[in-house]
Amino acid sequence: MYKNLRIVPHIVFGRGAFNQLDNILSGKRTDAGAHVVFLIDDIHESKPLIHRVPLHANDLVILVNVDHEPKTTYVDQLTEQIKAYSNRQPEAVVGIGGGSTMDLAKAISIMLNNPGTSADYQGWDLVKYPSVYSVCIPTLSGTGAEVSRTTVLTGPVRKLGINSDYTPFDQVIMDPDLLAGVPRNQWFFTGMDCYIHNAEALNGTFMNAFARAYAEKSLELCRDVYFHKVDEQEAEERLMIASYFGGLSIGYSQVGVCHALSYGLSYLLGVHHGVGNCIVFDQLEEYYGDFVQEFRKMMQVNQISLPQQVTAEVDEAGFEKMIDVALSLEPLWENALGTEWKSIMTREKARELYEKM
Ligand code: NAD
Ligand code: ZN
Repeated sequence: MYKNLRIVPHIVFGRGAFNQLDNILSGKRTDAGAHVVFLIDDIHESKPLIHRVPLHANDLVILVNVDHEPKTTYVDQLTEQIKAYSNRQPEAVVGIGGGSTMDLAKAISIMLNNPGTSADYQGWDLVKYPSVYSVCIPTLSGTGAEVSRTTVLTGPVRKLGINSDYTPFDQVIMDPDLLAGVPRNQWFFTGMDCYIHNAEALNGTFMNAFARAYAEKSLELCRDVYFHKVDEQEAEERLMIASYFGGLSIGYSQVGVCHALSYGLSYLLGVHHGVGNCIVFDQLEEYYGDFVQEFRKMMQVNQISLPQQVTAEVDEAGFEKMIDVALSLEPLWENALGTEWKSIMTREKARELYEKM
């Protein structure tokens, strides 16, 4: 059976598009008691963007901290805070920030309408009720979180997304102006997340014409950006679209070896997704040869160096945990290595790769 992919139904793209937010939300502000919740990456607290948020009388602004990538406990805590704020549901949840903030917004929109803890829904198609109307406004591009049907959370036992048809945003506003001022390393690591999405999709067994078209275009845009073929403004615009296309591509295919191992690394060591992917990808020449070489050239051109020996202090139990987390991601392995993946990616092989990082 073919996947029936749900994607974001409304998209605005262009410089200054942020200014349309109030107009977009106006349709949701049904009466005087209505309110909107804005979840904003706290990096913006001291930046001009915060003053442009179109606040109305009852709205709630929560500055979220993403020093650590989203945990189920943080999602649950923020959901409680929103429920305590008003005895009626918000008309909309708006996430403004990078992948972490976007994922928080998606998860909270789900949890406002679903009982229990967000950890109950980590997995595939476990969400019971539609989420609250949600909008995302990326201020960092690469993850594809703006379009994907997942929100990646670290829970009590594993790092795994809430993958469901209720996860995607209802509206995305992509304004390339908002990428100005992203620190150089972050710009690289989050952008490489996109590059690696495409490499893993194109090399996977789940590949098909739909996913290939988006991955190939996204790759071309990544090359324009990271080999500096275009100026800074054009690079912001292209990376934003590369991220979106990369997300669409993996939505209709899957990621692979790098993401599976990277999830294990993040779970145990708290390494952030973008940099974690880069650390892992650098060791995956036997799976993604030409892409790994091109990735290293991009690092060189952009004068990026990777953290070294991040697993040097990991003990026996730690390696076992990382391997457990990585090997539990079955669809990723099946995409990367085929249905017989278990005989290829043994625990020993995974350990060998982790030890090199
Ligand atoms: P992030 O959201 O974690 O942010 C990284 C850093 O950049 C933070 O310090 C943040 O404050 C800062 N930042 C954000 N916007 C900025 C701006 N305009 N200027 C300056 N600093 C800014 O980074 P990310 O790489 O975008 O997201 C990683 C997260 O996304 C991980 O939690 C990962 O699991 C998740 N992810 C989700 C999906 C999905 O489909 N849902 C896909 C890939 C990754
Ligand atoms: Zn990723």
